[in-house]
Amino acid sequence: MSLRYRLKVYGFVQGVGFRPFVYRIAKGLNLKGYVLNSPSGVEIEVEGDKESLDLFLIKLRSEKPPLAHIYSMELEVLEPLGYKDFEIRKSAEGGKKEVFVLPDIATCEECLKELFDPADRRYRYPFINCTNCGPRFSIILRLPYDRKNTTMDKFKMCRLCEAEYNDPTNRRFHAQPNACPECGPWVELWSVEGKKLAEKDEALKKTAELLREGKILAIKGLGGFHLACDATNAAAVGELRRRKRRGEKPFAVMFRDLKQLENYAELTNFERAIILSPETPIVLVKRKENTDLAEGVAPHLKKIGVFLPYTPLHHLLLREVDRPLVMTSANLSDEPIVKDNDEAFERLSELADYLLIHNRDIANRVDDSVVRVIGEKRVFIRRSRGFAPMPIILPFRLKRKVLAVGGHKKNTVAIAWEDKVVLSQHVGDLETVPAAEFFEEAINTLKRLYEFEEDVVVADLHPRYHSTKWAERYSREAGKKLLKVQHHFAHALSLMADASFEGGKIFAATWDGTGYGTDGTVWGGEFLRASYGGFERVFYLRRFKLLGGERAVKEPRRVALSILFELYGDDFSKFPETVLKSFKPSELEFLYRAYLKGVNAPFTSSAGRLFDAVASILGIKQVLSYEGQSGAIMEDLYIKGFKKSYPFTVDGNEIDWRPTFEALLEDGAPLEERITKFINTLAEMVKTAHLRGGFRLPLGLTGGVFQNKPLVERILELSSSTGAKVLTHQRVPPGDGGIALGQAVFGGLVDI
Ligand code: ZN
Ligand code: ZN
Ligand code: FE
Repeated sequence: MSLRYRLKVYGFVQGVGFRPFVYRIAKGLNLKGYVLNSPSGVEIEVEGDKESLDLFLIKLRSEKPPLAHIYSMELEVLEPLGYKDFEIRKSAEGGKKEVFVLPDIATCEECLKELFDPADRRYRYPFINCTNCGPRFSIILRLPYDRKNTTMDKFKMCRLCEAEYNDPTNRRFHAQPNACPECGPWVELWSVEGKKLAEKDEALKKTAELLREGKILAIKGLGGFHLACDATNAAAVGELRRRKRRGEKPFAVMFRDLKQLENYAELTNFERAIILSPETPIVLVKRKENTDLAEGVAPHLKKIGVFLPYTPLHHLLLREVDRPLVMTSANLSDEPIVKDNDEAFERLSELADYLLIHNRDIANRVDDSVVRVIGEKRVFIRRSRGFAPMPIILPFRLKRKVLAVGGHKKNTVAIAWEDKVVLSQHVGDLETVPAAEFFEEAINTLKRLYEFEEDVVVADLHPRYHSTKWAERYSREAGKKLLKVQHHFAHALSLMADASFEGGKIFAATWDGTGYGTDGTVWGGEFLRASYGGFERVFYLRRFKLLGGERAVKEPRRVALSILFELYGDDFSKFPETVLKSFKPSELEFLYRAYLKGVNAPFTSSAGRLFDAVASILGIKQVLSYEGQSGAIMEDLYIKGFKKSYPFTVDGNEIDWRPTFEALLEDGAPLEERITKFINTLAEMVKTAHLRGGFRLPLGLTGGVFQNKPLVERILELSSSTGAKVLTHQRVPPGDGGIALGQAVFGGLVDI
């Protein structure tokens, strides 16, 4: 398969032999394309067969010239253009040098060598860093990025560190967080009762011991605290789940190195390259069977979120413990990640047995990023550490400065000007007071760091979103214009901007859990013909009633019941046992009356809910433990290469799933086949809608449902047979974490 990778490389990559190096490895792998210096780094396009492209990505990191350093890299996978050769192109003239706030960068190879060199003065020093690695966004208080404007200000450099800092030939020349055991921060181990047990190297060794014993530790990292425990210890993992009230939501696991990780997961070269990238995100990959990993790490799932150490502290700990560690953001459900020591003692003492803290303050809390590979592309589930606050560059200029406040769940906010949108780190679900405070903090931080003042504010149309209410009050008080954008239109705009779509229309499937529609009902299974200027709702999935409103979102059995009422009324003899037995008979009667009268049963066209209904009918899940769980479990059971599907009809603007459910209910095939047929049917619906509603337009896939790997891959398969061009997200998440980008673009382009 031939593909094209477009890479925007930010970092120390100019004047260090980087372009000739890129030229050499591209030529060596017989790849075509170009490399050029851009105002903010290096831009590369390479095309060729996928295997060589993935090797290229790995070599880019493993064989780069010693002086070159990659801080951040934008990666897009695109259709090949038919380049004839590989060339070093002349740089674009006159572009002004951009100053961005850099994200945090994983510990570099050189620092790592020193860290484990007994002769080095920073041997086993958990805060070793240099110009090419270490904290950036997480320690910056204000611009410019000088030591005095970071949380390192309180540490006075010793003579040796100072000399390095002032020596232009030194790797630590102007490394703002430069420090050593003599002059820099240190770690301490504390009991939850507030007793200091050990400090510095002794604290580290003791922490490793405690982890090996099965204890749960709150560990202060780069952008906040993690809760850590031995991932091979079922009791410890179970206890962490219980304390965190986490239900069955999977935990991410950190491995000491790629070699250890390979024992637990099956990786492709593309996944390896992403795991090794300087952003070190959590990557969802296929888990190997029969390892010693505790089942409770990712209940019912065949995939697992994995990542590698990205700070010296992690490297030291993981080597010392020598077992994979659960490393999950330290917070209570729905609250932001804890970042300060005081906050940790206050909020984590019930969750952890001990705390490993340190005295380098975190200025900006930032969670780990999460990505996965879908259709050979890197897709964000959460874009945060390592990526935020790098800008998304648009293929056009905005007319004004915009503040976009995002959605409600998985919130991110954005500021936008000229051709740039800076998306905040992951803020999360705006369900709690601490989350609402973090939301404001994220807005204020972006505005302060970029000295930004918006002309307009953009929010979601939903009247009850916290972000919308905040924007209403704020814009009124600040005397700014407020614009509102329909949720799924914002998804479509986000996709268009993400895919650098320059103009015209796309045909977008905007599928997610819920969003407020222009008709006041709950949307989530729409097909929009959209341009930057507006949209038409061309098709939607047949609507059904959400029994119990919000409660139905957490209980697939209620969605299944609603669909069964649609099909069979109250003829309960036709209902599958799986659904029936999850209710009391009196509940069934009550819910049927509510269904008939429409009491607390709003209409929805949500595609996410259809997954829930199937999960309930097939006996997979009656009550969810986290959002998206039914889809996450079902996709793991998908049979690749199995192409059968169920029927459906199109009636006017409505795509009718009733034949689908009738067939599914009667189907005696094994569970996996029924799931596969259902997912294939959704893909067929997308194909049919596209053919009927705009086959000349590019097909766009956006919304949280398109984090589902087999669904997207089946749509791509079907589209390649019709020759349709398909746009998918690669720079921001398809889910609500990407909404702010769509809002920002809307606010910047609309005529007002
Ligand atoms: Zn370094
Ligand atoms: Zn020092
Ligand atoms: Fe959404």
